[in-house]
Amino acid sequence: MTILVTGGAGYIGSHTVLYLQQQSEEVIVLDDFSKGHREALHDVKLYEGNLANTVLLDKVFQENKIDAIIHFAASSLVGESMKKPLDYYENNVLGTFQLIKKAVEYKVNNIVFSSTAATYGEPKNIPILETDPTIPTNPYGETKLAIEKMLRWSYEAYGLNSICLRYFNAAGADPEGRIGEDHTPESHLIPIVLEAALGQRDGMKIFGNDYPTTDGTCIRDYIHVLDLAQAHYLAVQKLINDGGCDIFNLGNGQGFSVKEVIETCRKVTQREIKADIAPRREGDPAQLIASSKRAKNNLGWQPKYNQLETMVQHAWNWHSTHIEGYGSK
Ligand code: UDP
Repeated sequence: MTILVTGGAGYIGSHTVLYLQQQSEEVIVLDDFSKGHREALHDVKLYEGNLANTVLLDKVFQENKIDAIIHFAASSLVGESMKKPLDYYENNVLGTFQLIKKAVEYKVNNIVFSSTAATYGEPKNIPILETDPTIPTNPYGETKLAIEKMLRWSYEAYGLNSICLRYFNAAGADPEGRIGEDHTPESHLIPIVLEAALGQRDGMKIFGNDYPTTDGTCIRDYIHVLDLAQAHYLAVQKLINDGGCDIFNLGNGQGFSVKEVIETCRKVTQREIKADIAPRREGDPAQLIASSKRAKNNLGWQPKYNQLETMVQHAWNWHSTHIEGYGSK
């Protein structure tokens, strides 16, 4: 099978590319390297550029016989999206619009889309079901939801099969330590705590301890990046075999508070980690926990690395041996 992976040089994208290569699939990556890293890719056919570049898209579709697309390329920072909503609509919604148009034009009828728990907003029920209301609290979630709807209508009108995967909190790294997580600037909890453990920052800040949770800090559902990669591959297979249009949550169904994550990092790294209480971060829901029953039942998805300690250990293996990340910090 030949699979086009947009945003294949990013964190989840690159782990998915590696996973697909391990399954002996043919992978083509399209990435503009605005956030991704060349060093995260090995032995892959690469097209460098943005989804807005329709000439490049034509080239990709003309030069390759693509069976399915896994679409990661997007801007994905909640805080940034609050400040630059139009940039998010441009890059995410318009970019995907171009991709979908070309997919329809070239009759590439299967697309797996990287969606997010941010489509739900502040949840009414825990665990969150795919049928729960979607009321995003930030432009990032809004753009992802808009794309989900674009895909749904494209299925109805053009028969473009799609699966949207709403992930909760991606964590961990390749268990063999070949690739990992490197964002500039870093905003995600686990890498920040590990940078504090490495002495790269003085300590870290806990954003709010007055939430209605057991210890007052936010609760999240962490999911190993390779388990996400597995789900994307299963989703591609499902589309090729059965077609259709669907949405699945991807999480472990177990929540950990910020304080519990820090404790786990202390245990794994055996280092002191200074953590101070700071004000809440704008737009953070108190608790996000997925029900992933549908993904398990419909895709046959079985997370393999479902222990938080394993995710932190894999992340630590990479961070502690790549102090400068991919070297581009
Ligand atoms: N968080 C924190 N300090 C940090 C970074 C994150 O307390 O330096 C908290 C954040 O408020 C949220 C949780 O950790 O409750 C997970 O945040 P992250 O940015 O990793 O993922 P998100 O849930 O926003 O997708």
